[in-house]
Amino acid sequence: YSYTKEDIMKMVADNDVRFIRLQFTDIFGTLKNVAITISQLEKALDGKCMFDGSSVEGFVRIEESDMILKPDLNSFCLFPWRPSPNRVARLICDVYTPDRKPFQGSPRQILKNVLQECADMGYSLNVGPELEFFLFHTDSEGAPTLKTLDKGGYFEMGPIDLGENARRDMVLTLEEMGYEIEASHHECAPGQHEIDFKYGDALETADKMVTFKLAVKTIAQRHGLHATFMPKPIHGIAGSGMHLNLSLSSNKANAFPSETDQYGLAPIAYHFIAGVMKHIKGITAVTNPLVNSYKRLVPEYEAPVYIAWSARNRSPLIRVPFAGGHSTRVEIRSPDPAANPYLSLALVLAAGLEGIREKLVPPAPVDGNIYELNPAQRKKLKIENLPGDLNEAVQEMKKDPLIKQVLGNHMFEKYIEAKEKEWLDYKVRISQWEIDQYLTTY
Ligand code: GLN
Ligand code: MG
Ligand code: MG
Ligand code: MG
Repeated sequence: YSYTKEDIMKMVADNDVRFIRLQFTDIFGTLKNVAITISQLEKALDGKCMFDGSSVEGFVRIEESDMILKPDLNSFCLFPWRPSPNRVARLICDVYTPDRKPFQGSPRQILKNVLQECADMGYSLNVGPELEFFLFHTDSEGAPTLKTLDKGGYFEMGPIDLGENARRDMVLTLEEMGYEIEASHHECAPGQHEIDFKYGDALETADKMVTFKLAVKTIAQRHGLHATFMPKPIHGIAGSGMHLNLSLSSNKANAFPSETDQYGLAPIAYHFIAGVMKHIKGITAVTNPLVNSYKRLVPEYEAPVYIAWSARNRSPLIRVPFAGGHSTRVEIRSPDPAANPYLSLALVLAAGLEGIREKLVPPAPVDGNIYELNPAQRKKLKIENLPGDLNEAVQEMKKDPLIKQVLGNHMFEKYIEAKEKEWLDYKVRISQWEIDQYLTTY
């Protein structure tokens, strides 16, 4: 669908909408918004809504801080958790500079740039994300804890699955917001869940990914629970991933399948895989943005540690699901749900496109459990590691010219600056583990 200004005005009137949230994300993918009342809507739809960008993480300096929010009309959506009267709707916005140019520090703009490059090559990107999260109890003051009474495991059912009611509400809410929910289930760890929605156009899906987190957190709160997308909240059990299932279409048909290939993949799918593998080290600071992200990327728990692909196993970075035909896709398994979806997709796509342009060829697939290979075996198979911590990831990011080219100078520098600061802040702290290990012994 494609809404006009008049459509929006009519939907607002018909649905008793009083407030409109103008939304955008900062460099970390955190959703920001400014609420306007309907008296200002016309002005906002004409792209005349200014805001001060100087306080937004990674945006601009004080002296050049006035920015314009230009709503993407197709993103109009009512918040089901604010029912009539005085309903609330949202519009996702692109950020423009005062001289009406797209602001290059906006993550959504950066994704749009790469999608344009993709379109120029004759392709469009389809994305099917799988977001995992934990539901924890809140304490008597409403603050989140790490507690769950839930003892469920993979695909567990009620009454063991205590999150079932909350998850059901989340699914119904997301459906009201226009998501086609394909599956929802308990994940491996106690208190861990996953809700999957249908794959779609990359920009729309990135918008849906940021909104998904808002909806899930909001509904969890209504059940007295706290939903967290923190990658590894608890040591010793699975962390939360954000697998990205990707395929390219040309002329509306999936360009990845091949009936003659042993893994069902066309040459461009192999080139795409090779491009992603080539750049994944540099991309990781974005797809795995937190100090905590790297505590998920450890052996076991079905999270990747090594840069390899497979058609069978779930331990490598890239898996080719057994799907075939128009469902053929590659699943990138390293991203976690703390990542900025716009930037993650922009970088993974740019890497894949480079693979196609340069006809890169991936190494042979690794079909055994790579966690069980020893370092010598991995060396022989030329299997490299993903960055081991945030610092290593940032250093890899700095070394990869593709990342800088895709993010642009502004975003590239702001991102690195913020992550180096985060690392330093973490590095100098003394953890409970150190106290437990060293205080008495030494
Ligand atoms: N939780 C795992 C991860 O960290 C994935 C588990 C699964 O979906 N099979 O990526
Ligand atoms: Mg899944
Ligand atoms: Mg899963
Ligand atoms: Mg998956």
